[in-house]
Amino acid sequence: MHVNTITKLLAPFPRARLAHLPTPIDELPNLNKAVGGPRLFMKRDDCTGLALGGNKARKLEFYLGEAQQLGADTLLITGAVQSNYVRMAAAAAAKSGMACHVQLEERVPDVDEIYRRSGNVLLNRILGASIHSYPQGEDEAGADRRLEQIAQELRSQGKRPYIIYLSADHTPLGALGYVNAAGEILTQIEEQWLPIEHIVIASGSSLSHSGLLLGLRAAGSEIPVTGVCVRRSAKLQFERVSQCTQALEQLLNLARPAVMPKDIQVFDGTFAPGYGRLNAQVVEAIELLGRSEGILLDPVYTGKSMAGLLALVRAKKFDQLGGVLFVHTGGIPALFAYEPAFTRILQQGAPPLFSSDM
Ligand SMILES: *Cc1c(COP(=O)(O)O)cnc(C)c1O
Repeated sequence: MHVNTITKLLAPFPRARLAHLPTPIDELPNLNKAVGGPRLFMKRDDCTGLALGGNKARKLEFYLGEAQQLGADTLLITGAVQSNYVRMAAAAAAKSGMACHVQLEERVPDVDEIYRRSGNVLLNRILGASIHSYPQGEDEAGADRRLEQIAQELRSQGKRPYIIYLSADHTPLGALGYVNAAGEILTQIEEQWLPIEHIVIASGSSLSHSGLLLGLRAAGSEIPVTGVCVRRSAKLQFERVSQCTQALEQLLNLARPAVMPKDIQVFDGTFAPGYGRLNAQVVEAIELLGRSEGILLDPVYTGKSMAGLLALVRAKKFDQLGGVLFVHTGGIPALFAYEPAFTRILQQGAPPLFSSDM
């Protein structure tokens, strides 16, 4: 594999060291016993460090790298109320000696008091972020404009703000973190002789999915990647990944496209009823991983994407393969904010997809 290609592609971009890398790849033999299918492996990006871990540590290395190069002293970011990105940006700012302003959007309907105060919201307070709110959860451009207004106010006070934007119209700098992760995974596959022939990852803003896919193809690997939809339908997510990979090809100055339309695979079979909302498959997946492997998943992203992987295993989609790698993108603090929703689903007593008594 041409992992050196990735190192060369990333060399021009300033990068702050924030994540504990490389994260390990673990095999999940007990989960395999419960569900069958090919051998199952997990890339432990929940172990990236930076205030409880997750995929955002990899993205933030590139945003903070640019922010520091520009001499910024204040970081601004938008996310859902229980955003992991916001929590980890607040941690990255603290570690880098910057102030941090976060804007929390109302993206999830009918939430309770615990959702508004526990989990990532508590951690934002501990990490010292100034918290703003934005009433709309489906208005990325509007949220970005509001952040620009806050940045303008900060400038008038003599501060030097740096904005991490939400909408897909901005340079996908964070995706470079997953271009790098692709190189890390290919090296681990080679050094540890791992039989990995498919990768499954949550797909939200799509920067992680797109960066991983582009990194693999740029390094000459044809391993398919399935993005499990956690934010919008498969149709819309396909467009999002397509737009993001093209912007990334431009950012990296690639002579020809690395990602073809056939490379973009998305699955939304476990997405309902919507972003940040639990369903019985997600609760089942969270309990199954906890009880079989002692691994925690989160309610918004990894519970849903693991439910997606399990649905695909059950549909025998991977039966011909030697092994499948699931990328654990983190998010665990949100579990505590979802206790009431979790309990409600359990009380409805939905039938389990798999028997978890082994
Ligand atoms: C943000 C997030 C994702 C989605 O990553 P994108 O790059 O936005 O697609 C997945 N898992 C967790 C835990 C996250 O916090």
